[in-house]
Amino acid sequence: MHPLGLTAVVPCYDEADSVAQTHAEIVAALGGYDLEILFVDDGSGDGTLAEIQRLAAADNRVQYLSFSRNFGFEAAFSAGYKYARKPWLVHLDADLQFPPTEVHLLVERALEGFDAVFGVRRTRHDPWHRRWGAACYHWLGRRLRIRIPPGATTFRVLRTELARRVVGLRLGTPYFLATVPLLTSRIATVPVEHRERTRGTSKFRLGRLIGHALELYVAFSRRAVHWVAIVLLLAALVTAGLSATAFAGWVGVAPAIGGALLAECVALAGAAVMLRYTVLVADAQPRPAMFYIREASIPVDAADELFPGARAVPHIPVQRGDAA
Ligand code: UDP
Ligand code: MG
Repeated sequence: MHPLGLTAVVPCYDEADSVAQTHAEIVAALGGYDLEILFVDDGSGDGTLAEIQRLAAADNRVQYLSFSRNFGFEAAFSAGYKYARKPWLVHLDADLQFPPTEVHLLVERALEGFDAVFGVRRTRHDPWHRRWGAACYHWLGRRLRIRIPPGATTFRVLRTELARRVVGLRLGTPYFLATVPLLTSRIATVPVEHRERTRGTSKFRLGRLIGHALELYVAFSRRAVHWVAIVLLLAALVTAGLSATAFAGWVGVAPAIGGALLAECVALAGAAVMLRYTVLVADAQPRPAMFYIREASIPVDAADELFPGARAVPHIPVQRGDAA
């Protein structure tokens, strides 16, 4: 039988120490497929691109896209999904916390008739705050009725056409995991191994993760906005009630002020969430693209390039004194 066409999409941000090993492990585990390895250099500043170019020169299965700056994880894998050229793709992070040897499990499941198969970690080898944070995040997501396949991770095998459709939506808040279930019900999950990161460091700080979670709640559910509206109204009522009772002399001024301040804190927090919704509306206005490509080993749309056609022109370094 002809081997299955599979693109391994690998987003990379400052992963110079990892990519060679990543490439070796991917080839060892997935060499039996009709394989393409598409590295996306997300504006790294540490020589990641040079490492990738070295690999591409030695192995014609390796292709790459390189961004003009760091556009973030979602942009990096989205570009990879858009330019993957095989009918199926697998998403692999450069640190290979998900072993490529597990890809076969996902592919087998996909070929049973699924459009997207997500790995679910049997045991997660990440710091405790990441595990607890993820548990809270999923819990709140379920409360808000956002459909995310339970436990689904970035380790996934998809029909490339489906991934491309999701990216093509150009949502104001791109959120891949929450968007796939809006397009297809043929989704499955498979338990997989997960290892600790052994090279490089995690690129996700707590603030970035919290921001990402908030984006999900705001963009994929209208429930949060209803709840917040109710909370704001209740806070207003509590404040009014306390002020009235204080004036009437039924409660002391100090407890009344304390209670009112507390209600105001809640109201201000609610107002901050409401502000996010306003920003969401503004996001729907014309805006820069999700990413810009400075350099690539494969043809890309002119609209995705920072300097369309620039690759045909030899790069002439600016000499000292040229500016004068
Ligand atoms: N990554 C990226 N752009 C970013 C941040 C991360 O392309 O702005 C890549 C990173 O190089 C890695 C993958 O996304 O290949 C997942 O990142 P990381 O392993 O740091 O995340 P964690 O496993 O800690 O969630
Ligand atoms: Mg990782």
